[in-house]
Amino acid sequence: MDLTFSAEENEFRDELRQWLAENHPGDEPRGDDDTTFEFRKDWQRSLYDGGWAAVQWPQEYGGRDATLMQSAIFFEEVGRTRAPLPANVLGLLLAGPTIMAWGTDEQKERYLTPILSADEIWCQGFSEPEAGSDLASVKTMAKRDGDDWVVTGQKVWTSGAQYAKWCLLVARTDPEAPKHKGLSYFLLDMDQPGVQVRPLVQITGEAEFNELFIEEARIPHENMLGGEGDGWNVALTTLMNERSGLGFFLQIRLRQLLDQLVEEAVRNGKIKDPVIAEAIGEIEARTEVTRLTAYRGLSTIEKYGQPGPEGSLTKWLWSETNQMLVQLAADVVGPEALSADSKWAYELLRARGNTLEGGTTEILKNIIAERVLGLPRK
Ligand SMILES: Cc1cc2nc3c(=O)[nH]c(=O)nc-3n(C[C@H](O)[C@H](O)[C@H](O)COP(=O)(O)OP(=O)(O)OC[C@H]3O[C@@H](n4cnc5c(N)ncnc54)[C@H](O)[C@@H]3O)c2cc1C
Repeated sequence: MDLTFSAEENEFRDELRQWLAENHPGDEPRGDDDTTFEFRKDWQRSLYDGGWAAVQWPQEYGGRDATLMQSAIFFEEVGRTRAPLPANVLGLLLAGPTIMAWGTDEQKERYLTPILSADEIWCQGFSEPEAGSDLASVKTMAKRDGDDWVVTGQKVWTSGAQYAKWCLLVARTDPEAPKHKGLSYFLLDMDQPGVQVRPLVQITGEAEFNELFIEEARIPHENMLGGEGDGWNVALTTLMNERSGLGFFLQIRLRQLLDQLVEEAVRNGKIKDPVIAEAIGEIEARTEVTRLTAYRGLSTIEKYGQPGPEGSLTKWLWSETNQMLVQLAADVVGPEALSADSKWAYELLRARGNTLEGGTTEILKNIIAERVLGLPRK
């Protein structure tokens, strides 16, 4: 991939820089989950009004038809200015691309714009108590009843479900079929009595994810995404977008965090400690490799129209490097980095989940071995 910007790309970057200079909302307020969510929602709304919420999306749904390189510039600039995350991350990274790939014209028309404007928040109902890495084992059942499907089961780790209007739901529609083939993919309206959301408080003190109890919830047949029995393939589209999208998005956050740590090490003189300097050097190299690998993933999308299994490599590199970085922060910042209300303590605790969310490192390594390197299955 050629990383030199064309005149058009430079123009795109300059326009964005100016917009960000005029519209940056400042640092995220420190407060409870709801305050943060509302702040991110306002920020996404402002991005949407400026036409910046998902630059790579088609113009008719509120995007800019941006090239992949322009999208990369967008993420780099947002990272450079330390802008906050938008509220509807799972809508933007997972629901939108999956609906664009598999949805009917009516579904695209109905769902895409409110994802961008953050009017409708999305969550991902894949994992269950007995189906995580082995997603094809999901037990949540959907039975046809006239024009509806009636769904019963339990999901877990459902991030953002407390704010979500819609859920990307994988459920079993044919218990007789082999496990990968008996699944279908639905767009579940969360706003109904059959869906109960119970928060799970994490080690960070936040309740970022939830348990979802689904008891005879109804989904109109028109809310199936893909055909009956296509659930596994539709879910793979979501997962590939999750890994490459998260990888790209998060490598920029990694850079932001590393720059902050280096600033701190320079400020307090720890950078002169050769052990610290060497550790920072290693993280710097890994961060740069992660960035370049994320760009290589863009080339795959350019070639095949969809992210490939290489996204797993970015996600793996990012998660391990981020954990190394937050661990080092305690040595650089000192005991203060471990006090309850410190930003670094939050990062340290939150990072524990990085090697699980969006696919565990072991699973990603299996994918890389089999589908990127072409090694035989064990
Ligand atoms: C912060 C966070 C947010 C999340 N958000 C969501 C969400 O919004 N929606 C959602 O659906 N899920 C979400 N998840 C769930 C996540 O996708 C699962 O945790 C993950 O897929 C692993 O599943 P599991 O927890 O059931 O672990 P298991 O699959 O039971 O794995 C347990 C251990 O066994 C290892 N293992 C399993 N199979 C193999 C194998 N074949 N080869 C080698 N090792 C193996 C795993 O690597 C792991 O170390 C989230 C998780 C976290 C931590």
